[in-house]
Amino acid sequence: RPVIGVLALQGDVREHAAMLERAGARAMPVRRERELSEVDGLVLPGGESTTMSRLLESFELLEPLRARLAQGMPAFGSCAGMILLARQALDGRQDQHQLDAIDMVVRRNAFGRQVDSFESDLDVTGVDGGPLHAVFIRAPWVEKTGDDVEVIARVPHTQEPPAAADRIVAVRQGTVLATAFHPELTGDERVHRLFVGIVQEA
Ligand code: GLN
Repeated sequence: RPVIGVLALQGDVREHAAMLERAGARAMPVRRERELSEVDGLVLPGGESTTMSRLLESFELLEPLRARLAQGMPAFGSCAGMILLARQALDGRQDQHQLDAIDMVVRRNAFGRQVDSFESDLDVTGVDGGPLHAVFIRAPWVEKTGDDVEVIARVPHTQEPPAAADRIVAVRQGTVLATAFHPELTGDERVHRLFVGIVQEA
C-alpha cells in the first residue's frame, strides 16, 4: 500500500484520509518536513488558500514541498488545494504563494455569489462507472491551461447560470491532479482511487 500524506494545516483532512484508506492507501497527516519526506504522494485539501499558503510558510513546509513537487512527487489538490497547485491565481492576495505544479491559471471563488455552492454530475476522464456527483463550495474554476495539462472534467453544458456551464473543473498534469470540487465529501472514492493509482505507477 502506498503511503499518502494529507496536508494537515487546515481543511477537511479526516475526510480525505478516510477516502484514501478506502481507496487502498495508507493515509498519514503531514505537518512537518520529516513527515513530508516519508510519503509517496500528497493530498492538499480544501479550506482557504490564502490561509493555507501562510501556514505552509510558518510550518516551514513551503520550500520542502516545492522541492518534492519538483522531484516529481504525485499530488492531488481539491478546491483550495487546486488553487495552491496552480501557476497563478486570479483574485488572490498579492502575497499568496503558488506551488506552480500545474501550468494553469485559476480564478478563486469564480462561480460567484448566486451559486456560492452547488452540486453537479460530471463525466471525469479516468473515472469509470458513470457520472460523478460533485460538490462545489466557493470553488475556483480553471481559466487557462498550458499544453501539458489534460482537462479531465468540465461543468455540464446545461448548468445554470450560463457563466458556470462548460467551465474546467478538473485537470491533470503528469502525476499531479486537481479538482475544483470536493470528492472527499460524497462517499464516492473513485477520484481517490484514480490518485492512488497514479501514486502506485509513479
Ligand atoms: N474559496 C476558497 C479559496 O479561495 C476555497 C474554498 C474551498 O476550498 N472549499 O481558497
